[in-house]
Amino acid sequence: MFESLTEKLEAALKSVSGQGRITELNIAGTMREIRRALLEADVNYQVAREFTERVKEKALGTKVLSSVSPGQQLVKIVYDELVRLLGSEQVDINLSPTPPTVILVAGLQGSGKTTFCAKLALYFKKKGRAPLLAAADVYRPAAVEQLKTLAASINVPVYSIEENGQVVQDAVRVAREAVQEARRTARDIVIIDTAGRLHIDEAMMQEVEQIKEAVRPHEILFVVDSMTGQDAVNTAKAFNERLDFDGVVLTKLDGDTRGGAALSIRSVVNKPIKFASTGEKLDALTPFYPDRMAQRILGMGDVISLVERAQEQYDARQAEKLRRKLRSADFNLEDFYEQLQRIKKMGSLRELIGMIPGLGRYVKDLDVDDDAFKHIEAMILSMTPEERRNPDIIDASRRRRIARGSGMEVSDVNQLLRQFKEMRKMMKSMSKLMGKGRAVDLRQ
Ligand code: GDP
Repeated sequence: MFESLTEKLEAALKSVSGQGRITELNIAGTMREIRRALLEADVNYQVAREFTERVKEKALGTKVLSSVSPGQQLVKIVYDELVRLLGSEQVDINLSPTPPTVILVAGLQGSGKTTFCAKLALYFKKKGRAPLLAAADVYRPAAVEQLKTLAASINVPVYSIEENGQVVQDAVRVAREAVQEARRTARDIVIIDTAGRLHIDEAMMQEVEQIKEAVRPHEILFVVDSMTGQDAVNTAKAFNERLDFDGVVLTKLDGDTRGGAALSIRSVVNKPIKFASTGEKLDALTPFYPDRMAQRILGMGDVISLVERAQEQYDARQAEKLRRKLRSADFNLEDFYEQLQRIKKMGSLRELIGMIPGLGRYVKDLDVDDDAFKHIEAMILSMTPEERRNPDIIDASRRRRIARGSGMEVSDVNQLLRQFKEMRKMMKSMSKLMGKGRAVDLRQ
């Protein structure tokens, strides 16, 4: 995400790092470079110009602090301005005090609208809510099916109207009845997936307006594909003029997007970006935090999101259990397998590495292979439970069997077992050290 912008901004900011102080003269080139970097990332021209103007004004007006270099000061100013541009604060969905909360989701076809509806349902489900999806994208028969399939995978009901095996083409009716259905079945959130077209057209706009009128949603979200750059901004403007939506959802931020849409939309339509979608899997959705995004853009990583992802996978009890296991060096291949499953649930390796400060920009050249996990898993799964608990009993003939069973070479099995042994040895010596540490603490 945004690698090229990150690289260019870093280069631009480096050029002032050696300067003793910031002057109109030595900052001019840097500002030009920053502006060019933004324009190349497809940031709206006006937005890019205002951005550099503000940075320059602030930089020249800032007192030179002796403790930090002018370069560092400038990085801070650019960071602050990026956060401001992205909206400053994270903004939540408006929830109705009396259920159900009705959320209307609009956007062009292919923007990732249907996928997002399912993701949002899962997001709320994880928070203990009971969502209902409404299939108001009634023109593409496949759309209703797609929503049903996605919903089934997360165990969320879908409201749709079919007569004689045909989808009834009345989106307003689907939306209205879905809200009634939610009341009847005690569902506290209704998420309405509407029809999109490839381009903005009058019929589509009218229909969404009619749905809005009929169900008076508490929240209208506009979904846009961040890969479409300036088009995303124009579409957002058009939808906002008609619908006056409450928030934007940026999809496909995992792709090769240049970042222009993310950086321009907020200030052009003056509506907050509420969610970022970063993959096809249904858990690839995160609330949008302007500060974290700015950190990523400047190559500072996003440790907070990384920690939060980890926290989702480990509750306090599980973390304690794992810690005890590691300390007693009683950690076996079964535990190892379980940890792999948790890490996998946190996201793709590429995405996780991208959140580590300083590593983001290397990821694009890195051959990070999520399949590496698959091979290890296959080998572990080819072992008997007894072997997983006690890998020392695996002899040569069993190694051959495991290799055959998992489609790997005997040398791969050997390597896995060797590495696992090393890891355990390291844990043993670490736990000894930790034990010593505790003893010292007690004496003090
Ligand atoms: P709709 O026509 O707006 O309802 O769009 P869909 O939900 O059908 O999504 C269009 C395509 O984009 C599908 O192939 C999705 O799997 C894919 N997609 C949706 N969101 C994301 C995302 O955040 N990242 C990636 N890489 N693909 C996505």
